Amino acid sequence: MPYTLPELPYDYSALEPYYSGENLELHHSKHHAAYVTGANSTIERLEEVRAKNDFSALVGLEKTLSFNISGHILHSIFWQNLVPGGGGTPEGELASAIDEYFGSFDAFKAQLTQAAVLVQGSGWGALAYEPLGKRLIVEQIYDHHGNLGNGSVPILVFDVWEHAYYLHYRNVRADFVNALWSVVNWQDVSKRFEAARKLSI
Ligand code: MN
Repeated sequence: MPYTLPELPYDYSALEPYYSGENLELHHSKHHAAYVTGANSTIERLEEVRAKNDFSALVGLEKTLSFNISGHILHSIFWQNLVPGGGGTPEGELASAIDEYFGSFDAFKAQLTQAAVLVQGSGWGALAYEPLGKRLIVEQIYDHHGNLGNGSVPILVFDVWEHAYYLHYRNVRADFVNALWSVVNWQDVSKRFEAARKLSI
């Protein structure tokens, strides 16, 4: 199988009280797992399509592939973006870049918070590196794969699908997003920023 569910880098209860272990376990072991299964099964279906030379189902399969691979990628980043004892503010070049492209950390934080909170339906708020303009941007992603800038690399993502928070925060999405800021792993975000900056278009 091309894709596998990654282990979390911490215990399910490690992000409490900001994120309940019960919600996190369900999120990782059931929801994320479903995107891995979906990506693998869609790749198999596409092999069958090519073998039969019958592309009548291709449009739907391509959409399903994008949905599931993007879901797998975003969740894989999301778990690494969080860490027990995290939060605070970034340092070094990431901090400078945030100031340069958003004016201040507080202005960036407000934009990403609102991008996540105001998703209509299911989606994500994301800080991304855009390699053509070589700049940081905030994106509001619908589902896992809509409203994205081609080529942009997500480096900090907040999952605001209801499955991400409903067990813990019920309908109050904003409380979940605000809590996530307390467990952001800025070292991981900085590492992703440094790697993304090597890309060019
Ligand atoms: Mn999710």
